[in-house]
Amino acid sequence: MAQHQFQTEVSQLLHLIIHSLYSNREIFLRELVSNASDALDKLKYLTVAEEPYKKLSFDPRIDISFNKDEKTLTITDNGIGMNDKDLADSLGTIARSGTKAFLEKLSADAKKNSNLIGQFGVGFYSAFMVADKIEVISRKAAEDSTWKWSSDGQDGYDLESAGADTLKPLQGTSVILHLSEEGLEYANRWSIEDIIKRYSNHVAFPIYLSYDEKEYDDKGKEKGSTPKTEKINSGAALWQRPKSELKEEDYLEFYKSFGSGYGAGTDEPLFYIHTKAEGTLEYTTLFYIPKKAPFDLYHADYKPGVKLYVKRVYITDDDKELMPTWLRFVKGIIDSEDLPLNVSREILQQNKVLVNIRNASVKKLLQEFRSLADNALSGSDEVKEKWQTFVSQYNRPLKEGLYQDYGNREAITELVRFKSTAVESSAEKPGWTSLADYTSRMKPDQKYIYYITGGDEKTLRSSPLLEAYREKDLEVLIMDDEIDEIVIPSLHSYKKPGVSGASAEGKTEGKTEEPSWELRAVNRSGADEELGEKKDNTAEKDAKPVIEKIKKALGDRVKDVKLSRRLHDSPSCIVADENDPTMQMAQMLKAMGQADMPEIKPILEINGDHPIVAKLKDIDDEEKIADIAGILLDQALLVEGIRIKDPSDFVKRLNRLIS
Ligand code: ADP
Ligand code: MG
Repeated sequence: MAQHQFQTEVSQLLHLIIHSLYSNREIFLRELVSNASDALDKLKYLTVAEEPYKKLSFDPRIDISFNKDEKTLTITDNGIGMNDKDLADSLGTIARSGTKAFLEKLSADAKKNSNLIGQFGVGFYSAFMVADKIEVISRKAAEDSTWKWSSDGQDGYDLESAGADTLKPLQGTSVILHLSEEGLEYANRWSIEDIIKRYSNHVAFPIYLSYDEKEYDDKGKEKGSTPKTEKINSGAALWQRPKSELKEEDYLEFYKSFGSGYGAGTDEPLFYIHTKAEGTLEYTTLFYIPKKAPFDLYHADYKPGVKLYVKRVYITDDDKELMPTWLRFVKGIIDSEDLPLNVSREILQQNKVLVNIRNASVKKLLQEFRSLADNALSGSDEVKEKWQTFVSQYNRPLKEGLYQDYGNREAITELVRFKSTAVESSAEKPGWTSLADYTSRMKPDQKYIYYITGGDEKTLRSSPLLEAYREKDLEVLIMDDEIDEIVIPSLHSYKKPGVSGASAEGKTEGKTEEPSWELRAVNRSGADEELGEKKDNTAEKDAKPVIEKIKKALGDRVKDVKLSRRLHDSPSCIVADENDPTMQMAQMLKAMGQADMPEIKPILEINGDHPIVAKLKDIDDEEKIADIAGILLDQALLVEGIRIKDPSDFVKRLNRLIS
């Protein structure tokens, strides 16, 4: 029977640890090494800050050794150490609120969540996943007595004074694990090295592993062994070193550790951003923008690119909350000084510290993207090329940000780029414009930013809907990206940032209002009103009988038939009703598996000046009218890249008319 009982919560935790399944036992080593590293940090601080400690000779290190025969694994540090009271307080109770909250959560649905212990650890006690007895021998810095804490992880622990010779270093702690059946595999040089390299490679203090190197005679028979001690971590994390000390090569070399995938250019970043924040929150971030978008950018189960470290200890690379999804192409690390190491995933996600780091990181990234865009305007060819690559790779995920991230919408709006009737563009050399540039080209009395969506670039550029805009020399944005249909309507209007009240307009009106422009889809009914081409009444009256004929012939294939104000060369076009999705959008949603979409009917617009339409006036043969009306509708659908329902019917009508 142990002399001391565990606090109830400790017992619960231990029960869970010992009786549940683990996906990830090996993290016990990460936990113990991080405790050792914390202890070294604490003493390091005291040796520079406080009197009795300044005299200590202190050469901080962590030592790991194992003994297969005795089934032990020992982790020793020469850090701050613990006295009897510290041992009782630290290892007999759960002081950390995060672990407490974690436990409360777990008890609700313990089985289901118990894997989380494996993923995130619960500090010191996680060692009971691999040990059926643990001894902790410790001597506090600048104190004389040595203490031994021991427990089998059942209901309590023993605490007794120990001989000075039970601990080798002048001060510090030895944690001796008596390995259980499950833990035996860790009494092995290779698995220890492997685990340390994975989780604790960047711990700031040297970690040494002691092992016996076996010697063999020429017959292959073991003839003895030599004890060896080897440093197994690489130490100082690159991102913790000052920028001034780091060279471009260092950053490029480190980028390779992200193993970013296949194909040309994937092993080189386009650029990187290294930030150290000090103040209320202390953290370091190092972000890389890959030259090429990750291959799984559009997979729902994409692999997040950002790894989380806490005080240089690796925590996870599988947390999608570290970056918003629209920035999922960013690779790199976040290293926080303020997070607890062993906090559950759920708690991590709601964690204020992490949310703040994330928000600040997003702002920082947006700033960097923006300055690249600005520099590209006047900068070298190299910078221009960089920006061009950035746009071609990441324009689309950035657009997702327009509707996902309301808080940053303004900044994202300045970054996204569009094709345009005013910008030359080809497959080899896509041309882009920003909304800001569009507005600088606007006609003085132009009220709207025009855009056309649906279909590919070529189809859009030759759409009859653009005829009137071309005539009037009005620029139209060519939105050929599927996502545009979904995203752009959420923009509504665009306000140029940084246009102050000192603008000419502001001065004359004495207001500080910044100008703002509504975005207008040209393929919508009503969007032509501002073209100012109101047909006079006689034209309307003239067209009326023809329109009636067509309406009758098409029946419920269309929502309405109208006289168009935007057509010049083409006989007809289709537009969507004000609040309907466009036909292209409906087609896309269907392709994406939304089968229950109600059928969308277009509005057919007719060019009253077109000879075909004029001819219709004099035709009374109902069959002929039906043929012409059907062709007017189907060809309008075809030029917009919409599949027509009955191609053979279209062909039949066409042939009848030709013959
Ligand atoms: P955490 O490290 O998050 O505080 P742990 O369960 O890992 O939680 O450790 C509990 C406490 O035990 C630590 O806060 C520390 O006070 C003490 N401790 C554990 N290991 C050591 C060590 N090697 N040296 C000194 N103190 C230690
Ligand atoms: Mg710890």
